[in-house]
Amino acid sequence: MVTPIISHWINGHSVKVSPKKTGLVYNPATGEVIARVPRGGAKEVEEATAAAQKAFPAWRDTPLIARSAIFFAYRELCWKYREDMAKLITRDHGKTFPDALSEVVRGLETVEFACGLPMHLAGMNTPNVSTNVDVHTLRQPLGVVAGITPFNFPAMVPMWIYPIALMTGNTFIWKPSSHTPEATQLQAELWKRAGLPDGVFNIIYGGREAVNALIDSPDIKAIQFVGSTPVGKMVHENGVKTGKRVACYTSAKNAMVVLPDADMDLAADSAVAAGYGSAGERCMAQSLIITVGDSGEKLLPLMKERIAKLKIGPGMDQGIDMGPIYSAEHRESIIKWIDNGVAEGAKLVVDGRSFIHPTNPKGFFLGVTLFDYVTPKMTIFHEEIFGPVLGVVRVETFDEALALINGHQYGNGTAIFTTDGGAARRFELEVDVPMVGINIPIPVPAGYLSFGGTRNSCFADIQMRGEDSIRFFTKQKEVTLRWPKPGKQGPLSLVFPGNK
Ligand code: NAD
Repeated sequence: MVTPIISHWINGHSVKVSPKKTGLVYNPATGEVIARVPRGGAKEVEEATAAAQKAFPAWRDTPLIARSAIFFAYRELCWKYREDMAKLITRDHGKTFPDALSEVVRGLETVEFACGLPMHLAGMNTPNVSTNVDVHTLRQPLGVVAGITPFNFPAMVPMWIYPIALMTGNTFIWKPSSHTPEATQLQAELWKRAGLPDGVFNIIYGGREAVNALIDSPDIKAIQFVGSTPVGKMVHENGVKTGKRVACYTSAKNAMVVLPDADMDLAADSAVAAGYGSAGERCMAQSLIITVGDSGEKLLPLMKERIAKLKIGPGMDQGIDMGPIYSAEHRESIIKWIDNGVAEGAKLVVDGRSFIHPTNPKGFFLGVTLFDYVTPKMTIFHEEIFGPVLGVVRVETFDEALALINGHQYGNGTAIFTTDGGAARRFELEVDVPMVGINIPIPVPAGYLSFGGTRNSCFADIQMRGEDSIRFFTKQKEVTLRWPKPGKQGPLSLVFPGNK
């Protein structure tokens, strides 16, 4: 069978690609190659930028209600095809089908937010700033903007970026991950069916070369990036140097605190779900569990009970809790991290390294791993593993737990499990992490609210989505105006205008 070639999407159409300039896409559950994906570079970015620039004036000037109608149509199509999109995600990413479906639906929250664009784009009007003088504010699009996204959420994370870029009147170039391109392609086709004009939404696949071309292009005015810290830091530093607006949301190592008074069954369910869901390949995964006082003694047996019942297998199979790792290389890197944890002296309670799936031995499967007695002296405390590896850290006091979280190089999400409202309140106020869960393990805010990071988890002045993203993707203009009666404008004066 000929391996299908996924193509760039420029000016509303697939672009023919030579198989020589492509990489491989795998089904991680079987280890088989399922597609080829192009490696775009400067030429393709230039073509997409030209198409987006050409489409910009008409899109910018499209009446808001007509723009909004396209968003409603897109939302309906995504809803109609949500299961197809989820199946594609499961096929090339590996996450379970229910998990993939949930990602699509959570992504749609931001599309739904964008449907209300006529309200969101209203400016301000300030009458009488001076005698018979008013000021009004316009929010105008920037022009051509880009989004660079990671492998782990092929629908939800892009849907956090492009709805707001497009609703504000910009035209868009998406540089998705080449590991998980199948749902990407479906999103382009659904935009076309929803009536989005050609050139408004474009996709270029590729790695470093394509990203550098986006950064270097003087015609691209802004970039939002989601991915790992080293790449995000580079995109931010280089993008800002070219005068662009750049916002990068990056890696994480989230910690969940369990106080001795917590509901331990809830805490154990939450730790296992947030640590191993999607094989730990979520930026909001809880990968450290900080137990305070004797809560570690109570929690560990409950976690082990739950871990023993987890079902690992292909994401489309019924009743599966965890699918494979997305790539063979990443699987190897997770195994090295586990070796590292053992060498550093953490206590290996559950070892997932030797797991082989009985009917899919070539799939990129790994079992789940649990370490106890992880300490801040260990690299597995500090570094993001991005796999099904949980580390329990034991401390004596709430203050120690808080200090570990606030002193960590990453700050993305966190959670506390307790029945003490006062402790939860203190945690909420004093923890230096933007997304906080109280008895909620994965506190991803609804898609119409903002999502951010701090320290090495974010290189941006503002958060993503919601009002912050509207500000990011627009430039503000203040218009000061008056309508004097002819001949009544007052005497000529060279004094700097005062407001009286
Ligand atoms: P990645 O950094 O490898 O890739 C992100 C994007 O950058 C992709 O489009 C990729 O093609 C491109 N890229 C990769 N290497 C590049 C290079 N050398 N030069 C230029 N571009 C390059 O990240 P990933 O492995 O796809 O995703 C996992 C990472 O993303 C994790 O660190 C995770 O924590 C993070 N993540 C963060 C958030 C968040 O909101 N903070 C959300 C999801 C994932």
